[in-house]
Amino acid sequence: MPRISADQSTRRAFARRAVLALAVLAVAGVGLRLTLDGGAESAWATLAGPALRAPAAATALDADLERRFEAAQLDAAAGGVELRITSGWRSAREQQRLVDEAMTRYGSAEAAHRWVLPPERSAHVAGLAIDVGPAAGAQWLEQHGSAYGLCRVYVNEPWHFEPLVAPGTPCPELQPDAGAALG
Ligand SMILES: [Zn+2]
Repeated sequence: MPRISADQSTRRAFARRAVLALAVLAVAGVGLRLTLDGGAESAWATLAGPALRAPAAATALDADLERRFEAAQLDAAAGGVELRITSGWRSAREQQRLVDEAMTRYGSAEAAHRWVLPPERSAHVAGLAIDVGPAAGAQWLEQHGSAYGLCRVYVNEPWHFEPLVAPGTPCPELQPDAGAALG
C-alpha cells in the first residue's frame, strides 16, 4: 500500500511542521510581550524559561538615590548612628518571589500587597527604594531624611524610604501601606 504510507508520511511531516510553527509563534509571542510591555514582569516570570532574560529595566539602585543615602549614612555615623541598606534594587523575579511568599503568609493578594507590591509597581524593582536598618538607623533617617530628599512612605513600613522630594524639601504625608497606592 505505497499510496497510504506516502499519505501518512505527508501527514506526519505536516504535523511536525505545524508543531514547529506553533513553537515559533509561542516564542515570538513571548518576545513581543517582552518588547512591548516592560511592566508585565510578573506574568513574564512564569512564562519565561531560564534562557530568557528580563526586559531592559533598572538593574541597580538609582545613582542619585545611592548618593543621597551615602550622604545621610555619613552624617548618621558622625552622630554615632549606624545606618545601612538592608534591601535596595530587586529584580522582577526576586520581587515576584517575595509577593508569592507574602501570598502564602497572608492568604490573599490584597493582604500581601499591603507589604509587597507586584514587580511592575515596586519602587525597589525600579531602583528607587531602599529598606534600611537597624531600627535606630531607620528612626534617624525618618527624622533627618528630608534634608537628603529621602522619605519614609508607609505607616506599616518604618524601614522603607524613597527619594520622593528634592533634598531640603518636606516629605509628603505617610500612606497607610503599599496596597493603598494600588487603589
Ligand atoms: Zn521597601
